[in-house]
Amino acid sequence: MKPAPFDYAAPASVGEAVALLDDPDRDTIVLAGGQSLLPMLHMRLARPELVVDLGRIPGLAGISERDGTLVFGAMTTKGAIERSALVRRRQPLLHAATQLVGHPQIRNRGTVGGSMAQADPAAEYPAVAVAMDAWMRTQGPRGERAIAAADFFVMSLTTALAPDELLIEVGIPALSEEAGWAFTELSRRRGDYAMAGTAVTVRLDADARFSDVRIVVSGVGSVPTRMAPAEEMLRGEHPDAALYHRAGDAVRDAIRDPLVDIHASGDYRRHLAGVLAERGIADAVARATPQTGTS
Ligand code: FAD
Repeated sequence: MKPAPFDYAAPASVGEAVALLDDPDRDTIVLAGGQSLLPMLHMRLARPELVVDLGRIPGLAGISERDGTLVFGAMTTKGAIERSALVRRRQPLLHAATQLVGHPQIRNRGTVGGSMAQADPAAEYPAVAVAMDAWMRTQGPRGERAIAAADFFVMSLTTALAPDELLIEVGIPALSEEAGWAFTELSRRRGDYAMAGTAVTVRLDADARFSDVRIVVSGVGSVPTRMAPAEEMLRGEHPDAALYHRAGDAVRDAIRDPLVDIHASGDYRRHLAGVLAERGIADAVARATPQTGTS
């Protein structure tokens, strides 16, 4: 199937792109890497009148560190993130998650902004964003705003972005050297979207007890979600395999309305989330170093 006819524009600046989006009478959509949008156009799930290609706007791609936060231009590809020594060193959770996204060809075209804006429930980047308290910087006709990841993902394939707003930057705090982390997921074939995934980060105090724990489940609900009861169960305790198992049960108990599709039943997804969380906690603890100088 071919896309329905559309006009195409390749603006040279963010301002020009925003001006093109700021037309309520025209159904306009943004094109980044095209790895989700082009299939939607081909299947005619999207039938825009105008496609605004961000690919020719200078300065929208790049990785830097500002005040302990890694800042990614929206058009930074996952391939660039995967190859970045800075990301590998300062944000190993994101690096690990990147390697699980699709295939190299998809990572070389697909962008960080596209993944956040697409908001697929099973995508790895939104889960990392929620686990790390990331922020999204947007620009629209009413100016710029920063949106916390926890508020950005509204429901499956829906974000807090207004139709006339562009996502221009994503900020993901670096992980401290002592922190442990793990991204675990299961998909039917390597490179497919996962049936369920977990992003876990942990910190241990000087007494080797959990001081900070974040467990985010993706692919099971309509948005990536922190599993507060399981996190609470671990905080203040010494790492222990039986405890991880109970935390996995707490994750299952916290999942009320799991997604169902041709790949997995709701019960299977719920079960999987618990197993992946248990493994993720164990892997994260294995990478953590107790903090010196804290109790
Ligand atoms: P596009 O496809 O160009 O755009 C996606 C959506 O975001 C569109 O609605 C577009 O308008 C909007 N958008 C893009 N950029 C912006 C912006 N800056 N501001 C506002 N709106 C914007 N993804 C995973 O996470 N995990 C996987 O395992 C995975 N497997 C895949 C397997 C296959 C076979 C394919 C084809 C894709 C897979 N993907 C997977 C999707 C891939 O990661 C996409 O790259 C990503 O979802 C979208 O990024 P993109 O740059 O290609 O965006």
